[in-house]
Amino acid sequence: MDFARRGVMLVIASPSGAGKSSISRALFAQDPNIELSVSVTTRQRRTDEVDGTHYHFIDVPEFEAMRDKGDLLEWAEVHGNYYGTPRKRVEERLAAGKDILFDIDYQGTLQLYDNSRPDMVTVFILPPSIAELRARLERRAQDSKETIDKRLRNALIELGHHREYDFVLVNEDLEQSVQMVGSILASARLTRTRQTKLDEFVEDLKAQIAALE
Ligand code: 5GP
Repeated sequence: MDFARRGVMLVIASPSGAGKSSISRALFAQDPNIELSVSVTTRQRRTDEVDGTHYHFIDVPEFEAMRDKGDLLEWAEVHGNYYGTPRKRVEERLAAGKDILFDIDYQGTLQLYDNSRPDMVTVFILPPSIAELRARLERRAQDSKETIDKRLRNALIELGHHREYDFVLVNEDLEQSVQMVGSILASARLTRTRQTKLDEFVEDLKAQIAALE
């Protein structure tokens, strides 16, 4: 049985390079009910990024205007750039039963907890080691040495926030991690309070018993 239900806000966070983007992309590719929340950012676009797909790349005045109008569900300054989640689409898609995947930092997660906790399931991804984290950042080869160093220093801050998440996993093997996050999402979908037509269904089952008597 597939009951009508409200979507899950699945938040995946980790220090840069722990593998959260790969996990998010793989989940998204294998599950047609998942949509990615496309953030706005003032950061420079990397060469392999597409505007509107990875981020909406905007300038600082545009960002400040959105933020000040209340168009962002949450926002934060990360690594010296602004990032934020546009509100409207998230609200529409959740009501339509779509699960939304958020790749946001701990500051954004804490803001979402304030207003959207019942909709949220949060997962924190740890790297197996700092050597591996550094290797992943360097393999990406998109960022300068200075940026990589900044991201490593930021990892220290981000790591201190793992206790704020519902689930924590160490990303040793991408496939296994994707499977684990997929299982977390599968259980979240079955939460009673998300299944909006459950009471009607149970009433119908009861009526069928009553009809037998
Ligand atoms: P990157 O520049 O590598 O794409 O992202 C840098 C950090 O910003 C990552 O930790 C990512 O999770 C975070 N981030 C991306 N979009 C948002 C957003 O909309 N809100 C918040 N709070 N963080 C974001």
